[in-house]
Amino acid sequence: MRHISDEILNKYIDNELEGEGLSELNEHLKICSSCLARLKALRIVDQQFRMMETFHVSGDFTQNLMKKIEKISFHYAPKKSYFFRFVVALFLVLTAAILIAAILAVKASVPAVPSEPAWYKTAFDAASSKFSDILSSYKDLFSSRSLSIVGSGLAFIILVSIYIVYESFKEAKGRLR
Ligand SMILES: [Zn+2]
Repeated sequence: MRHISDEILNKYIDNELEGEGLSELNEHLKICSSCLARLKALRIVDQQFRMMETFHVSGDFTQNLMKKIEKISFHYAPKKSYFFRFVVALFLVLTAAILIAAILAVKASVPAVPSEPAWYKTAFDAASSKFSDILSSYKDLFSSRSLSIVGSGLAFIILVSIYIVYESFKEAKGRLR
């Protein structure tokens, strides 16, 4: 008895057999358990291949996926101008600092009332004198009282600016994650 080849069995699975060939095969499978077992095994293999084809991805799959992600990212996280925000914040801080410096300069020009000074004034005076002490240790430029106030204001502006820049960088970095 001649057995059926794998090639014929595969043709049978793919419905490529017809007529005499098909009827001969059917007759043989009725009496041959060996060929029937091979047919079942080949059917399983065929199903596996069909499943793999379902999940097959094209060569530019990664590229297309990245494009889609880029589009989604762009749509949901529009770019914010951190530089613009920084400039606005700096402007506000500068305005506030100039106002404070002007108020304090006016207050300083008014003859001092012999009373207990406010805590913030004491603290500011201490900071001002400390700042002018540091500066005068290098040069005797900021010797006058008004200049020391301006110097303190500038130091304040610089400190706040550094803080804002640091915060905006931190935020920008956090957004990138
Ligand atoms: Zn057989």
